[in-house]
Amino acid sequence: MNLKWSTLEHQMQEHGIQSLLITDPKHVYYLTGFLSNPHERFLAAAMTLGEEPFLVVPALDEEAAHAASDISRIYTHTDTDNPYLVLNQALKGSSGTMALEKNHLSVARFESLQEHLTFARYQDLGPWLQDMRVRKSADEIAKIKHAVLLIEQVLKEGLTKVKEGVTENELVAEIEYQIRRLGADGPSFDSMVLFGEKTALPHGVPGTRKLKHGDLLMYDIGVYADGYASDITRTFAFGEPSPELTQIYKAVLEANEQAIRCIRPGVTFASIDLAARTVIDQAGYGEYFMHRLGHGLGIDVHEYPCVHGKNEALLQAGNVFTVEPGIYVPGVGGVRIEDDIAVTPDGVEVLTSFPKTLTILE
Ligand code: MN
Ligand code: MN
Repeated sequence: MNLKWSTLEHQMQEHGIQSLLITDPKHVYYLTGFLSNPHERFLAAAMTLGEEPFLVVPALDEEAAHAASDISRIYTHTDTDNPYLVLNQALKGSSGTMALEKNHLSVARFESLQEHLTFARYQDLGPWLQDMRVRKSADEIAKIKHAVLLIEQVLKEGLTKVKEGVTENELVAEIEYQIRRLGADGPSFDSMVLFGEKTALPHGVPGTRKLKHGDLLMYDIGVYADGYASDITRTFAFGEPSPELTQIYKAVLEANEQAIRCIRPGVTFASIDLAARTVIDQAGYGEYFMHRLGHGLGIDVHEYPCVHGKNEALLQAGNVFTVEPGIYVPGVGGVRIEDDIAVTPDGVEVLTSFPKTLTILE
């Protein structure tokens, strides 16, 4: 049994839980190494206190599960089996309290559990997993670094297609082609490339806008590789930018760098957000930085912790999150610079290395 399962077992003992059930495929991957998309079929990792953990997988995934996971007990169900009966048998008819993922399990599935299993109570195990996921192991950080390396190569390739008259959609298509070509599993979210006045929309949607001289270009892109996500943003100028856009860029870059300088174990997430916000306030653009500084990054592209002004939790070694200050002035344009960082025992490791100085393409 690996360390993650022992941590869960300890929680079960603490809380008087007899069995636990993991149904989010990302958590099944996190705990067993088996990454899959079961679509509508039933997939779970589970454990009864005092027994080895096991997997319940669709029969067609049996071989893949054996190959990928470090779990030796694997139960299967065909499309005509009732997976809840398989689960109940594997749990050896355990009763009492079951811990499960309230954030993930649908009401329909919960009703099936109640129908076919004999637990009297159900408790949420979401917070236990959140606590575990927020401190990444060296192996997890290495996977995120690889996802960052890949997206930086993708961006480098993607920039070779920048020319006058190209559309946002065409540059997105190039990014997604390179994501596959360079060997990532796929984008970690909808790839975003925006031009000119559209860069003032933090969640703008790429379209048929054509690139013209004097535009800013914003790339916000990421990949999944080996189950872990990257998420980076770089903003460029196409031709000489206006003095105002240059000033906005400088303020965002300084905010990004100032926040990163403050990162170390023991300071609050709120203080990191404030460090960036203070720089942007002093540059006179405070009202145009209207989102949090960043978010955790791992098996989800947005996960705990939230890096915002109300999070008084303390940074710990192993936290991985984004630092992405931005300024968005309607009708003028926007700049965001997003890095991915890991908190180390004595400070910070910046996982992104793509240059941040204002680059004029053309
Ligand atoms: Mn992003
Ligand atoms: Mn982000």
